[in-house]
Amino acid sequence: MTGGARVFVASRNAKKIEEMERILAPLVPGVEVLGLDDVGVHYDEPVEDAPTFEGNALIKARAGFAATGIPSVADDSGLCVDALNGMPGVLSARWSGPPKDDERNNRLLLDQLADVPDERRGAHFTCAVAFVYADGPDGQLVVEGRMPGRVLRAPAGEGGFGYDPLFVADDTPDGRTSAELSVEEKDAISHRGRAMREIASRIAEHL
Ligand code: IMP
Repeated sequence: MTGGARVFVASRNAKKIEEMERILAPLVPGVEVLGLDDVGVHYDEPVEDAPTFEGNALIKARAGFAATGIPSVADDSGLCVDALNGMPGVLSARWSGPPKDDERNNRLLLDQLADVPDERRGAHFTCAVAFVYADGPDGQLVVEGRMPGRVLRAPAGEGGFGYDPLFVADDTPDGRTSAELSVEEKDAISHRGRAMREIASRIAEHL
């Protein structure tokens, strides 16, 4: 990997860009992680209409590369609940309808699982990360990471985002929710952390 390499993160979500930068920077020394505010290009967020996390991550990374010409990373993630046959899945962000509202999504999930006993409240977060560095199917990579755990009956914690206050990861044996972990603790076990670490070493080969 040579100095001056740049990666564009095709997202308007500042937290997501920071999270990616935190994970990518130590693994790809000297890399410059650019968000939408750093590149002066017109970028319309594409419609994420694929049925899979991988498909949506690729749609976003392709759009980023098309708009900037800079090798582009994008992720797509969500919560897959066993008792809901894997839903909300790719619909996680807007599970309770538009506009996106984390608290309303969490209330709906609790309602839907109200009658589900503790031993059947298993779930996992999934994150697909796509990296697009050239035109055509040979110019792309996609990896997936998971964080298995379970859904609680009431929220706990102020950190994180989305469904974090309702989720306890199997890798957090003391029972704290993802919203009660430090960012370092969450990165170490999270679906996004796992997927980003896996793709980071492969990104280095293509910059
Ligand atoms: P995306 O921005 O299309 O990837 O949608 C991700 C959605 O899935 C978020 O809005 C959250 O509802 C949920 N989600 C994904 N990752 C996490 C996480 O790490 N914690 C909590 N919720 C998450």
